[in-house]
Amino acid sequence: MPVLFKTKCSRCKKNWVTVSRRDRYCLCFECQRPELEKEIKDPEMKKFFDIPEEFYQRNMFLRNIKSSYLKFGSLTQPQKDAFMKTVEKFREEAKE
Ligand SMILES: [Zn+2]
Repeated sequence: MPVLFKTKCSRCKKNWVTVSRRDRYCLCFECQRPELEKEIKDPEMKKFFDIPEEFYQRNMFLRNIKSSYLKFGSLTQPQKDAFMKTVEKFREEAKE
């Protein structure tokens, strides 16, 4: 697991974002929200990204994957795997 720490959002410089050291440009949920709300046309991908909004709020990585899909129209298998792994982790935590 990468080490996570909190930093101020690169855009609004107001909200805190939980990031890993590799993340250069850090956006909070509020700032990233407009680019995440575009419509997904592929029903399979729509289902893939249909996770509780809270997960997106809590995790910039999940937001970045969705944002990158909306930008480029596709994801690599490692991206999909990492996304599902993170969601799975959150689901486990929610159960406890
Ligand atoms: Zn922000």
